[in-house]
Amino acid sequence: MRAALGMVCLLLAPALPARSVNFYSIEHELALGKQLSAELERQVKLSDDAILSEYVNRVAQKITRQSDATLPVTVRIIESGDLNAFTLPGGHIYLNSGLLRLTESESELAFVLAHEIGHVAARHATREATRNELLQAGSIPLMVLGGWSGMALREFASAGGRTGAMKGVRDFEAQADRLGLDYMDRSGYDPSAAIDMFERIEGRERKIPGRVKRLWSDHPITASRIDAAQKHLNEIAGHRPEYVVNTSEYEEMRLRAIALEERRTAQVNQAPHLGAEKH
Ligand SMILES: [Zn+2]
Repeated sequence: MRAALGMVCLLLAPALPARSVNFYSIEHELALGKQLSAELERQVKLSDDAILSEYVNRVAQKITRQSDATLPVTVRIIESGDLNAFTLPGGHIYLNSGLLRLTESESELAFVLAHEIGHVAARHATREATRNELLQAGSIPLMVLGGWSGMALREFASAGGRTGAMKGVRDFEAQADRLGLDYMDRSGYDPSAAIDMFERIEGRERKIPGRVKRLWSDHPITASRIDAAQKHLNEIAGHRPEYVVNTSEYEEMRLRAIALEERRTAQVNQAPHLGAEKH
């Protein structure tokens, strides 16, 4: 899974992504999304915890109802320790179990989902696909809008630091953050949970020095994201007398998420051992 690379910066990245061109009709995006999500799901392991999945989707629907999304939103949990969530065309959101496990309240989970719903609402995946098609006629790019681990940004960086393309990705991330905060505010979730979530991801990434060094030397994006999110939080402060920070249901679901991650890591740790026994 990688963002389409090898693009040349022929086009100036739009200052306002919302105004950028989109070749895809809603119907076309839905069809593309169906195809890409099926392709992805052949390559990853989806969680079979139906109760956890139903809960995450219920939180996502609560936010989607307050959003500008014109596509139906579905969330699927991938069993993976990478701190990531991403959105494919057609409203298909994928949340890695590692990132779900990292959240510590329903409002933090809500921010992760609201950010991705922001990508759905702004139709970033097909906007990016449109831009890639303008540059690479004939290819069907498989888009992954990372954002959380900075994966997409690192891939762009390793492809030669094409600043125009990177600016496009950064604009999308900034817009998804902003929309996500608005949707949280509208659906009653405490938007300041975004800052806690950013800081926790940053803290976790610092524990993997090589990866983080590369990320931070190329793109100190997280610091600027936190700054921008804080500014927008100040703008929307005082909209509501109180917000939902956490729920008892989240705490129950958190135990399920922890159990899921423990099962997954036990399997990962067991795999080389089993392999060794074959010899
Ligand atoms: Zn994003």
